[in-house]
Amino acid sequence: MARYTQAKCRICRREGEKLFLKGDRCYTDKCAYERRPYAPGGTARMRRKMSDYAIQLREKQKVRRMYGILEGQFHRYFERADSMKGVTGDNLLILLERRMDNVIYRLGYSNSRAQARQMVRHGLFKVNGRRVTIPSQLVREGDVIEVREESRKVPVLAEAQEVIARRGCPEWLETDGPAFKGTVKALPTRADIQFPINEQLIVELYSK
Ligand code: SF4
Repeated sequence: MARYTQAKCRICRREGEKLFLKGDRCYTDKCAYERRPYAPGGTARMRRKMSDYAIQLREKQKVRRMYGILEGQFHRYFERADSMKGVTGDNLLILLERRMDNVIYRLGYSNSRAQARQMVRHGLFKVNGRRVTIPSQLVREGDVIEVREESRKVPVLAEAQEVIARRGCPEWLETDGPAFKGTVKALPTRADIQFPINEQLIVELYSK
């Protein structure tokens, strides 16, 4: 499957925001965006006024790259969000948030969504007692996510408690550290996604 293989820190610098793509490093002074908070490339430091289209495009790219999703799939999420009841922008973010790889990241079992995706593909988790290997699977209310017994010695999984203590667990999820278990208490709402995103710009972009 195609995936983005370039340096991750360039993405943050391009989007002009920390997207936390590299786990613990993002919280240290080694963060490339902290050191060079301007876009990569020779003309990066030149100030230029962006068109409305460019602003919308950048917002879409930011969210797409944050969740590590390719363009085609992102567009399909948008179409699905648009066909659902409610506000399209909210629906879009909620769909992304419900992805299995994101949930693993939110539960503190990985340092980044990219790492979570790999762990899911390797079959390290069960949902409601069944092994899952599809990172894009959407969780539902009441789902119980468990680390498989055979996988509990993987260092990053064993450290999940510390990660959660540092990063915090979203309201819509519940973790039971010693049992290597997490529960989807309720589906996320827009208010649960606290990263600064202007989803209306994405809706405007795709509605052209
Ligand atoms: Fe982005 Fe993390 Fe790299 Fe900083 S360290 S630029 S937040 S990926």
